[in-house]
Amino acid sequence: MKKACITFIILISIIFCYADSGMWLPLLLKQKEAEMQSLGFKLTAEDVYSVNNSSMKDAVVLFARGCTGEIISQKGLMLTNHHCGYSYIQRYSTMENNILHNGFWAASEKEEIPCEGLFVTFLVYMEEVTEQVLKGVENAKDLKEREEIVTVNIKTTIEKMTEGTDYSAEIKSFYYGNQYYIFVNRVFHDVRLVGTPPESIGKFGGDTDNWVWPRHTGDFSLYRVYADKNGNPAAYHPDNIPLKTETFFPISLKGVDAGDFTMVFGFPGTTQQYLISDGIDLVVNYRNPPLIHQRGVRLDIMKKHMDILPEVRLMYSAKANTIANGWKKSIGENKGIHETKVLNAKEKQEKYLELFAYQTTDGAERYKILTALRSLYEIYKELETTATTLRETFQAIELGKFIETLRPQLLKEQYPWSAELKNDLLEKAEKFYPTYHKPIDKEVFVELLAYYFSTTKKEWIPAPLQKYVGVERETLQNMTKQLYEQSIFSSMETFNKFVNLASKKEIASLHKWLNENTMFLDANNALAEISKNSYTENTLPNIQRQINAKYRDWVKFAAADTTGKYFPDANLSLRVAFGKMEGFSPYNGMMYLPYTTTDGILQKEDPNIFDYIVDHKLKDLIIYKDFGPYADANGEMRVAFIASNHTTGGNSGSPVLNGNGELVGVNFDRVWEGTMSDLHYDLSRCRNISLDIRYFLFIVDKYANARHLIEEMEIRE
Ligand code: ASP
Repeated sequence: MKKACITFIILISIIFCYADSGMWLPLLLKQKEAEMQSLGFKLTAEDVYSVNNSSMKDAVVLFARGCTGEIISQKGLMLTNHHCGYSYIQRYSTMENNILHNGFWAASEKEEIPCEGLFVTFLVYMEEVTEQVLKGVENAKDLKEREEIVTVNIKTTIEKMTEGTDYSAEIKSFYYGNQYYIFVNRVFHDVRLVGTPPESIGKFGGDTDNWVWPRHTGDFSLYRVYADKNGNPAAYHPDNIPLKTETFFPISLKGVDAGDFTMVFGFPGTTQQYLISDGIDLVVNYRNPPLIHQRGVRLDIMKKHMDILPEVRLMYSAKANTIANGWKKSIGENKGIHETKVLNAKEKQEKYLELFAYQTTDGAERYKILTALRSLYEIYKELETTATTLRETFQAIELGKFIETLRPQLLKEQYPWSAELKNDLLEKAEKFYPTYHKPIDKEVFVELLAYYFSTTKKEWIPAPLQKYVGVERETLQNMTKQLYEQSIFSSMETFNKFVNLASKKEIASLHKWLNENTMFLDANNALAEISKNSYTENTLPNIQRQINAKYRDWVKFAAADTTGKYFPDANLSLRVAFGKMEGFSPYNGMMYLPYTTTDGILQKEDPNIFDYIVDHKLKDLIIYKDFGPYADANGEMRVAFIASNHTTGGNSGSPVLNGNGELVGVNFDRVWEGTMSDLHYDLSRCRNISLDIRYFLFIVDKYANARHLIEEMEIRE
């Protein structure tokens, strides 16, 4: 029995353990200190995270809700990726002053652009609060009651721990609710754009190169955090002053070379390393395929129109970026899972588990968890595909979405419309129409709906939409004519005119029209039904809740381990990932070198392809090797490098540090072959991609001549 028991634990640990990977909580970094030092880290865990003394964590921020930024001067200067600030750069661009296209460099603090709605979060401290959060859950009679107890406990714990301070806090769950930590934060809402390279540098390679190595993207932009006169967070005000940031990252001119220690310190968003085979199957075979198809179609249409009109490019760049990022990642994820045969491996491990389970003391109990999870996944897979397909189809059609946001209001109101209603409708139209290009949306309408109704399994199409199954393309084209050309929604002018002047009869006929045209309403209702928070029905939240509860038992073993063997999945809390700069062999007979140089920019240059247009000033600097002090020992200008740090979305913009805690790079992506690392990290093919910090300095100094910014930084030879 003893022998079998040991085997069981070894088996479970093989399933859970991902050697050489991990995103570690800075508070618990002591567990990893020796390992980090053996790789070349010269500092201590206390230097990374300390509550009593200033430490590196004071210079790392959560940028908005999904990226990381780092402080690089005493005056709140902050560095992140170009793609993280993209929507702000686009928002403050016009056709006359197109900073997305031309770049922007504030010559003084006065010229810095306040980014409305942008905020950054500094972590003050974190602390384990599992006991407080789980107090009383043992008495809960079901999952609903348990959840209610946890919610109340979280609320009271946060209130208690932030009372009398200007801190905000959040409590996050780890290992599926086996542990909880509180994160006490300071949030700054006055953040200003200081500098950005033109898109041809900051997004060089575009979507063609996204998620791919080798890379030559200058993916950075610069901001400054502002505070009130006392250094406290404050809403934007012209009298606010740059935040005094005593802790900031010094920058190393030495760079890193193959084999050198690297560490990424940031806010990884989501990983799912503990999924059973069915969980991976769900992502790869039930969620990703409809997403990949529908997004691919949309992107092709958008790109075609963006290539024709520069104003459409400006209007759609941020939208296209967001869609493309998730689309391409899902393709890479599926490819990686397939090529590394992870699904097979997991299934095999689970089979062994079954064999041994009944020979061990607690094995049978554990195996029961697995079988329960499996049956839940059967329902989950179907719901997930239905929801993803609906979302990726109906929510992608912009005019349809716009009409649905107005529908309840329009149907409720009878003639005459109040001035208040009219103003509200006009305001909504003013926000919507200038950001949408009708020819794109019309094509998207026909292509997405044609695909949806011809290829989605009939049982996955909600009942009210079944009547459209097999709908002809021609019928869809006729529908677009009615909607986009003849309805009151056909243009802002027509809509506004209707709002201002509609007669009683016209309003009645609008009501009739809305009641007859319910395809989008039906799709929304179906999605809402699947997504409603029920405790009794088969809805997504309920299935996910039950699956979560099973995983809580499944990973208890990893959560209880105190040796630092199993990291908790990423959840947008601050983490440390460490490894080294290293290339890899993606396929037999091929080797990826660990860094790129500006030579590659000239090799990729193609004036006929938007993604590969090279700015003429940059080209001259490269040709004349006018790199200033930023070239490497061979006189080359490095652009990007790859390393074995386990990262994910949210780590975009994270500082990449050398063994002395100096900034050597800015993390911005992962390699194509390793895109599946959110589900399964494989050291032989997973690498993060970072901007070489010297390329950033070179662009700011030599390309933009923004010496005043360089002087603010601490640059170490
Ligand atoms: N480029 C990625 C993103 O923005 C970063 C990553 O996932 O590694 O989502």
